[in-house]
Amino acid sequence: MEVHVQPRTRSKMFCGCATDHVGQPPNSVVCEICLGMPGVLPVINKQAVELCLRAALALNCEIPRHTKFDRKNYFYPDLPKGYQISQYDLPMSRDGWLELDGRRVGIRRVHLEEDTGRLVHAGDQIHLAVESYVDLNRAGVPLMEIVSEPDLRSAEQAKEFAQALRTLLRYLAVSEADMEKGQMRVEPNVSVRRTGSGELGVKTELKNINSFRSVQRAVDYEVRRQVDVLEAGGQVVQETRGWSEAEQRTVTQRGKEYAEDYRYFPEPDLPPLELDPAWIQELRASLPELPAARAARFRSQFSLSAYDADQLSEERPRADYFEELVSSGVDAKLAANWLIGELRDPAARPSVLSTATVLKTMVSGAINRDQARDALADVVAGATVEAALAGRSQVSDEEELGAVVERVLAENPQAVRDFRAGKQKAIGALVGKVKQATGGKANLKLAGDLLRKRLGG
Ligand code: ZN
Ligand code: MN
Repeated sequence: MEVHVQPRTRSKMFCGCATDHVGQPPNSVVCEICLGMPGVLPVINKQAVELCLRAALALNCEIPRHTKFDRKNYFYPDLPKGYQISQYDLPMSRDGWLELDGRRVGIRRVHLEEDTGRLVHAGDQIHLAVESYVDLNRAGVPLMEIVSEPDLRSAEQAKEFAQALRTLLRYLAVSEADMEKGQMRVEPNVSVRRTGSGELGVKTELKNINSFRSVQRAVDYEVRRQVDVLEAGGQVVQETRGWSEAEQRTVTQRGKEYAEDYRYFPEPDLPPLELDPAWIQELRASLPELPAARAARFRSQFSLSAYDADQLSEERPRADYFEELVSSGVDAKLAANWLIGELRDPAARPSVLSTATVLKTMVSGAINRDQARDALADVVAGATVEAALAGRSQVSDEEELGAVVERVLAENPQAVRDFRAGKQKAIGALVGKVKQATGGKANLKLAGDLLRKRLGG
């Protein structure tokens, strides 16, 4: 996998221009440096270096003492200098790994470079593109390039790798890594080989992928295409292929260049970087607990299932909220269920204190689950937690509920017969009827108990 991620910086990689150019007129967030004018000098953005190192450390990479930038030469209209400032033989980090399902996926390197401009094609119905425009607002925006080892074996793993990487980058506050906004661009390199063969086949590189779902679909498609080519006696050609979302297939874009085609050489306008080990140590110490470690701790500390622990730790605010709820005295499994369910969306969450109050009221038996959910919605809408709970109580009186149960049993002879014939599920239907008959106020656990008692089950 080759992944480009835009680190969260205010200014571009080598000049003072803003990185936020959304909604700005084309070619208005530019200067002589990012326009590639002759006679100007780039300056390295320290914040970009720091964010790249944070990501590299979290990916368990080695950080060398010396690193430098290089020129990658090629011609394209979105590249005003005729070269991209990137890193070649001395990247900022190498030889790390990302944990995926308890397995390590090798990270070959994480390096820093700059983004290109954008081409805007204006077309009509007959000629696909009659005119092309160049917008250089994006030129010079920092990019981290993350390259994995060929350790992924399926389209699904490729998708999971990309998702785990995004989760990690968000935890680190290195990037929002939103694929749809182009902050994270995932380029899988795909090859196939015969079962038992130790040698990797010829690979193709896939571009233009805008979502995690498309990562999986594009790789799946490309695997099938390569197998078909080989089984028909043909050969896979090393090339770059674009994913067409509309056609759900990959199409040839261009033949693959090799490193020597780029005529890499050290960037003469930038000093090599000497990374102070004390600074690296400081950055390492400042890393937060990472998602995989947090999920493992949730499993052991709170006896949660792997599924619950993964879901909770996927987003840092969700994991934080969960831990605060548990600290406020809410049972861990209950807190997990609500955060994965009703409270998954951060916008649905009131203050931790309000949620704890409502859930404890539910556990005490004073309100049922539906009433708790409605009370929380009221608090989010602006009510105080006292007001939200005031009008709500569930029917827990055995006599009152018993009368409802008798009526429900009399009105639903078929469900009663089903239950007596061994269909345990029929009890659910009867509980539903009791709930309906009480306008949603029944203590459903008590209703179930009373029903079973009356039915002798
Ligand atoms: Zn600039
Ligand atoms: Mn790159």
